[in-house]
Amino acid sequence: MAEYKMTRAASLAEAGLIGKMGVKFVTRTSVVADGSESAAGTVTAGELRVRHDAVVIAAGLGATNRLNIPGEDLPGVIDALTFIEAIKTRDWNSVPLGRRVAVIGAGNTAIDAATQAKRLGAESVMLVYRRTEADAPAYDYEMELARQDGIDFYWQTTPVEILGDGQVTGLRCSNVKGDETLIDCDQVIKAIGQAKLGPALGEMFGVEIDEKGRIRVDDEMRTSAAGVFAAGDCVNGGAEAVDAAQMGKRAAIGIHQELTGERVTFAGSGVSQ
Ligand SMILES: Cc1cc2nc3c(=O)[nH]c(=O)nc-3n(C[C@H](O)[C@H](O)[C@H](O)COP(=O)(O)OP(=O)(O)OC[C@H]3O[C@@H](n4cnc5c(N)ncnc54)[C@H](O)[C@@H]3O)c2cc1C
Repeated sequence: MAEYKMTRAASLAEAGLIGKMGVKFVTRTSVVADGSESAAGTVTAGELRVRHDAVVIAAGLGATNRLNIPGEDLPGVIDALTFIEAIKTRDWNSVPLGRRVAVIGAGNTAIDAATQAKRLGAESVMLVYRRTEADAPAYDYEMELARQDGIDFYWQTTPVEILGDGQVTGLRCSNVKGDETLIDCDQVIKAIGQAKLGPALGEMFGVEIDEKGRIRVDDEMRTSAAGVFAAGDCVNGGAEAVDAAQMGKRAAIGIHQELTGERVTFAGSGVSQ
């Protein structure tokens, strides 16, 4: 989530609160498939299941989708998550930032990347989206924010090639009439959605996945595998933090019932996703 929406300090304070409740954080550890070569900083899905009465899969979404157009791997092309992560975790002066920045996409992530680039000092930021403004997945307030930040919009404009020789120099697009549009830019930020981790997680934990690559769950977030629950973006395909938090609560109800037989309710626990 972009820095202007939630600061790093706020996230860390929240994690600290959870720590005080007795939750143990095991950081720098990747959950890997059974049978993977054992390596430091990894734990297998099977080991997790053996060591715990219940496991909640809340792995979110995967890497930013590729554009699959020429020039995508040129220096100066960055994916929005890497860009936003750099803002979150590093000195803002060292965030890779172009003078003229083209952001591809029109969802929350694209708006976050565009407004952050502008606020960090890019001279101009262009948001390029293949559909109309009405189709843009970003919220109205985010669009308004982008307008106030002076972002230029290119609607119904599809990138076909990133131009450059050793460094990005432009973005060649085709518009809805089939005409060519050349956007002069020295940085391209890709924000065209993230891959679903469901299929990989499904295999790892032996849980059912739906036709959209999301982990299948019941109302209390039980998956098809005994003792394995799932919540958040890997279940709903990518939504909001509040949705993930609510699913976490429902998973807690499910786990409590599973382990004790007792059915509990608490404020807001009846709200379904
Ligand atoms: C740029 C951007 C802007 C957003 N803006 C908003 C906003 O304004 N408001 C809002 O409500 N939501 C926003 N969202 C969405 C919100 O961030 C998500 O809905 C929410 O974080 C989902 O929570 P989650 O717990 O499912 O997954 P995540 O928060 O993504 O957490 C998943 C975690 O699992 C870890 N993980 C994955 N695989 C493994 C593995 N194999 N082993 C160990 N760890 C693993 C990941 O590293 C990650 O830390 C935004 C998202 C993005 C990308």
